Amino acid sequence: MGTYLVTGGAGFIGSNYIHYMFRKYGDTIRIINVDALTYAGNLENLKDIEDRDNYTFIKADIRDREAIEKIFAENDIDRVVHFAAESHVDRSIVNPEIFVETNVLGTLVMLNAAKKAWELPDGTFKADKKFLHVSTDEVYGSLEEGDTYFYETTPIDPHSPYSASKASSDMLVKAYWDTYRFPMNITNCSNNYGPYQFPEKLIPLIINNALQGKKLPVYGDGKNVRDWLYVDDHAKAIDMVQENGRLGERYNIGGHNEKQNIEIINIILETLQEMLPDEDPRKKLVSKDLITYVTDRKGHDRRYAIAPDKIKEEIGWYPETMFKDGIRLTIQWFFEHEDWMKNVTSGDYQKYYEDMYKNK
Ligand code: NAD
Repeated sequence: MGTYLVTGGAGFIGSNYIHYMFRKYGDTIRIINVDALTYAGNLENLKDIEDRDNYTFIKADIRDREAIEKIFAENDIDRVVHFAAESHVDRSIVNPEIFVETNVLGTLVMLNAAKKAWELPDGTFKADKKFLHVSTDEVYGSLEEGDTYFYETTPIDPHSPYSASKASSDMLVKAYWDTYRFPMNITNCSNNYGPYQFPEKLIPLIINNALQGKKLPVYGDGKNVRDWLYVDDHAKAIDMVQENGRLGERYNIGGHNEKQNIEIINIILETLQEMLPDEDPRKKLVSKDLITYVTDRKGHDRRYAIAPDKIKEEIGWYPETMFKDGIRLTIQWFFEHEDWMKNVTSGDYQKYYEDMYKNK
């Protein structure tokens, strides 16, 4: 099956993807995980697999050309799965520079290193190599009243510095196909949720705060709509596109599970009430009274919704996890990993959280 270079594998989706791949392929693949371990990268996410002979972690920054070229030179990489990015919209509004540096320039470094390693003297590429660029539905902008879904043909129209940086990196990857026939796919996925998600994102934030009886901040009127996909379904889609995606193509990934933010919060509160035993003192803390409307996010996109028809029809992918099941699995995981949550919410994140909400 070959050697996979996974960037950003210590983050939320990357670590779930690595777990998924080892569950599916066992010892028949090798994974090299390259991560700079920013605030969002956490090796605890991979503790249970770190001793595998077919897994290697390398701490490196994707902006560091020398370090990345060295990894390609020392390993015969077959597949790149490029997750590494700055990923939080709110942070991009406060500090856009790092988003351009990591998401745009870092992707360029990755593309050039893979091109250098895979290109043959005649300008074609070695067989069976592929670079899969993991991107977001946010590059399409916002759907308004009367709009249906995002398709692969929907014009790119990003609104936040985060989505603009992801759109730019998508364009670079596409340009490498258009110009060099560099072997690539792009996937644009809707919002993910599941284990190991950093609690600055909506679902783990709400679970964590509700269990502590802390305020549940909701932007604006709470009616912004997102399409939510359980992270394992995303991992499965990435694997299927790696295996069967047509070179040069973009694939949308989504669960047709559109929900307003306020609906998500209500479902979490109801599910927590159902799952917590009566004698658990946290049960009394979980309440809709904690919901607190805060000033809307600047430039907040109203609705995202993905049409995953192409990946279904061409590749046969479909989401397996219903939201009601995925949210229970996620909550159960957080119940069982209280130490993980304590560790990530101490230090830097705590400071960021306080700065973010202090005036709201
Ligand atoms: P995350 O923030 O949890 O993880 C990002 C990882 O990248 C971290 O481990 C971090 O240490 C690493 N990283 C950051 N800068 C780096 C650098 N310069 N060099 C090397 N490593 C670096 O993000 P995530 O939610 O897991 O998202 C992963 C990818 O999927 C991103 O590209 C994101 O745009 C995309 N995506 C995310 C979602 C979602 O809902 N979370 C949806 C669609 C697409």
